[in-house]
Amino acid sequence: MTNDYSTSVKKYRKQRYHLFSRYDDGVKLDEEGWFSVTPEPIANHHALRCGSNAIIDGFTGVGGNAIQFAKCAKHVIAVDIDPKKIEYANHNAVIYEVDDRIDFVRGDFFLLAPRLKADTVFLSPPWGGPNYKKVERYDIKTMLKPHDGFLLFKTAKGIASKVVMFLPKNVDINQLAELSLSSCPPWSLEVERNFLNGRLKAITAYFTNPEISMNNDQ
Ligand code: ADP
Repeated sequence: MTNDYSTSVKKYRKQRYHLFSRYDDGVKLDEEGWFSVTPEPIANHHALRCGSNAIIDGFTGVGGNAIQFAKCAKHVIAVDIDPKKIEYANHNAVIYEVDDRIDFVRGDFFLLAPRLKADTVFLSPPWGGPNYKKVERYDIKTMLKPHDGFLLFKTAKGIASKVVMFLPKNVDINQLAELSLSSCPPWSLEVERNFLNGRLKAITAYFTNPEISMNNDQ
């Protein structure tokens, strides 16, 4: 274990109960999981906002969001490319007693997307590691992995009429507006700042297809 690794994981370990309130029941995280899991209060908020129908979590990691979605939604599909993450997410969902409401799928979100349908797609894609903090303006065209934010949005729009993206706190808001304007008619956009213990942690962008909301309103 390198010093850098142990110092950063130590920092995240201190927040373990913010990440998973049931951490002591045996929650499993790997190194990336410590850095990238959505803190539980924020994941719970996402779940309340994303509603009760079918939700796809495209980059589920160790399951922080999927577990909270499963408490509110009828059906959750949790996708991750890394088999270890799927194993840990499944294990953690058992601890939270919601594993029966989640289908875990190991695979590449971009390749699976054409075969997926849901009401909402939630995306917490790789931000490129903790280095995102070092730039003033986080650029979704060049810094998101494994593909840029425009391809990600286009892919997700084919699955659902609501697309929710969990992004770094310094993300370029103009680029989010560009994403919504890239559709015709433009998708509505709501940008939310997510705080934890009074500190800004991240930004969530909620995109909605206006044609679907109009149909639902009639
Ligand atoms: P960060 O850069 O924010 O630390 P990670 O590298 O931990 O992000 O990636 C977030 C999650 O996304 C990981 O669990 C990773 O396995 C998963 N992931 C990466 N690429 C894909 C993909 N193409 N499809 C599905 N999951 C992916």
